[in-house]
This record gives sequence, structure tokens and C-alpha cells, in this order.
Amino acid sequence: MAHFVIVGGGLAAGKAVERLRKEGFDGDVTVVAAEHHPPYQRPPLSKGYLEGKEGLDAVILHPSEWYGEHGVQLRSGVAATALDPAAHRLSLDDGSVLGYDKLLLATGSAPRRLTLEGADLPGVRVLRTLDDSNALAAELRDGGRRIVLIGSGWIGMEVAATAKTLGNDVTVLERDSVPLAAAVGAEMGAVFRDLHLANGVDLRASVDVQGITGSDRADGVRVDGEIVPADLVLVGIGATPNTALAEEAGITVRNGIPTDSALRTDAPDVLAAGDVANAYHPVIQRHLRSEHWDNAQKAGAVAAKSMLGIRASHDSIPYFYTDQFDLGMELSGYAPLMADARIVTRGDVARREFIAFWHDGARVVGAMNVNVWDVQGALKKLIRDATRVTADDLRDESVALEQLAAS
Ligand code: FAD
Repeated sequence: MAHFVIVGGGLAAGKAVERLRKEGFDGDVTVVAAEHHPPYQRPPLSKGYLEGKEGLDAVILHPSEWYGEHGVQLRSGVAATALDPAAHRLSLDDGSVLGYDKLLLATGSAPRRLTLEGADLPGVRVLRTLDDSNALAAELRDGGRRIVLIGSGWIGMEVAATAKTLGNDVTVLERDSVPLAAAVGAEMGAVFRDLHLANGVDLRASVDVQGITGSDRADGVRVDGEIVPADLVLVGIGATPNTALAEEAGITVRNGIPTDSALRTDAPDVLAAGDVANAYHPVIQRHLRSEHWDNAQKAGAVAAKSMLGIRASHDSIPYFYTDQFDLGMELSGYAPLMADARIVTRGDVARREFIAFWHDGARVVGAMNVNVWDVQGALKKLIRDATRVTADDLRDESVALEQLAAS
């Protein structure tokens, strides 16, 4: 009987297992997951779960029993240490070795660490895992703490909003002049900056963090010669794909693990999905690595089909969402194309109720709806069909989105 092995215990792994069984695969499936939890999704860890509004059921994909009931061997708390693609063997850190017919690498990514003085002090945290979120929640839930966030990417900004909502003093330190500029550009980053300032976050841009102070525990962050006092420091400066296993196995690694659109790596019978995969996107005809929830769940399903020999292509438009204070946002688009496009808005940017289009002069290559709902279908259609539209029509609220998408 065929044996499929999935390395990783995140969303991509969980969705791959689900899809294998949904497609009727009745062979053996083993999930090797370094964390001591069944596969789970991370978005609530910086939002509703951290705030205490959502429980574990919003995080865990299926309870542990589900795996047994579906004939899946879930080996939680066990890490894969070596992969031999030629022999089709995977070594684990409990000393066991698994043979496999197909193997999926869904190892995700890991938070980038600061290398500054004081970065290893207790009280300096990162947020990636459920355990990280539980530990952070224990410090923030009662309010009244001073938290300093280093970095204003999505995770930093979401934690800032949650921590503030819980009644903590929040300072965000950012090297760039505007938060989230790398993700959505300076103009849209300013929307998030203003949101945080309006909610009482002390957001300091264009600053240079020099180190973390404290003797046996972090008590401040040294920035531009000043010390910002802190009970807790959270470092949110991005993540790097977990590629060591692939690299040591001789699999090509280039900004993650390059795959074809069916998520096959250059090693026989080894696939990759989720944050770790740099998958060829057939529509824009280049490789894309996406560190987003939607990518992980769709890629997990595509990889499962591919493992079964079903024709499958990971060709959806990258999608992302965030919730911060009273702002909800969804964004679809191709980041490499958005980088060269011009932003056109419709709606009220100052009130934070608008749609932003990334317009390449003829077509929409990305679109973000902020506190405007039920428009993603039309926005994705505009992008997918590469419909020719003018900037004036995009701006004009009297021209319905559906009308634009149909033109
Ligand atoms: P991961 O979720 O990282 O899972 C990989 C798993 O593999 C980990 O558990 C890891 O321990 C395990 N692993 C690694 N190496 C090994 C090994 N050798 N052996 C065994 N196991 C191994 N995206 C959005 O689109 N919207 C959001 O609002 C959003 N919020 C987020 C909030 C937080 C706090 C975080 C951390 C991420 C957020 N994301 C969000 C991003 C999204 O969660 C990721 O893109 C997604 O988790 C990627 O899933 P994955 O399965 O590829 O990897």
C-alpha cells in the first residue's frame, strides 16, 4: 500500500491530509509535526485568539482524534531531521526512519531574529506558534503592561492593535518611514499608520533600534539614543522559509523551495507547499512565494492532488486579509506586478472605507478592499480576466464593479 508522508503541522499540512482523504486515497498517511499540537492555522494567534475572543476551536483544524479516525498517523512533537530522496527515506529526531512513496514538505517559515545586544534576554519574544501566542496572551490579557514592538509588518501591527485593545501601552518602532510599505506601498501603509495613531499607539517611524536593555530581563529598547521602557518586547521583523531539510537533501533552494505549478520540487516524489514553497505561477509566468493563509490552504489541497497523480495547478490569485482595531481588509493581487503599478482609489480613504486598485495603466493587477465587503469576487474577476479598464472608471463609484469586471 502506498505511504504518503507530510512534514509540517501547519495549514498546508492539514489541508493536504484533508484533501488526500476527500479524494479517496486509502493508503497510509503520516504527518510529522515538530510542534506538540495537531495541525492548526495561525491568523487568530495575533488577533481574536490573542485577545481572548476566540478559542482553540478557531485555531486547530481538527482535534487529534480526527487523524486516527481517518487512518492518519499524526506524529506530533517529532521533527524530521534528514531526507534521502533517492532512497525515499525520512529520518526523524526520535531515531525512527520512514519510507515513503510521496513526500510533501510543508515546513513553513520561522521568525527572523534580531542580532542586537540584549536580543536574547527573557521578555524578548516572537510570535509564530500557538505556544508563543499563549505566552503573549498571559502577559497582555489584564492590560496595564508596556509592550514595545520592533517592526511594523502585519504581525507587529496586528499585535499592536490587539495589545492596545486589551488596555496595554503600545509602542511600535519601525525603520522605514511608513509601516507596511513593503507590503502595500507607502500610500496605503499610511492608512494603517493613521489608524494606529488614532487609536493611541505610539508609532515611531524612521527610527534605528540599537539594542535591548535589561540585566536579567528586558526592560527597555534603545532607539536613536533614547530608551523606551518596556515590560515586554516583541520582535516582528519578518520570517524565513524553513528550507534546511530540503537543502541538506540536495533539493534546490532559492527563496524557499522552487516547484512547478503542480508543486513538485526537483527531487523525485518530493513536493512542497505553503510558506516554504516558491511555486511557479502559470498566469504571471514566474515563481511566487507567498506567506499567507489562503496560499497555504489552497497549496495544501493542490499538493495532495498532485501526490495522487491528479492534474492540478496552483494558479489562484494570492490573497491576504487582516483585522486591526475596527479596520478589516482583504487584498488580492500579484505582488511582483503591483510593485510597478499606480494606486487608484474609490471611496473614502480618510474614513477608511475604500477600495484601492493597483493599475498598470491598462489593467488591475491587485486590489484591496478596506471596510468594504462582498467585493472580492468582482475584484478577483477583474484581475484574473486582465480586463482593460481606465483609472477614471476605477475611481468612479457610479460605475459598478460588476460592470467593470464584465467589460
Ligand atoms: P506553518 O504554519 O509555518 O507550519 C509549518 C509547520 O511545520 C510548523 O508547525 C513547524 O514547526 C513545522 N516544521 C518545520 N520544520 C519541520 C520539521 N523538520 N519536521 C517537522 N515539522 C516541521 N496570513 C494571512 O493571510 N492572514 C493573516 O491574518 C495572517 N495572520 C498571521 C498571524 C500570525 C501570528 C502568523 C505567525 C502568521 C499569520 N499569517 C497570516 C500567515 C499564515 O499563518 C502562514 O502563511 C501559514 O501559517 C503558512 O502555513 P504553512 O503550513 O505553510 O506553515
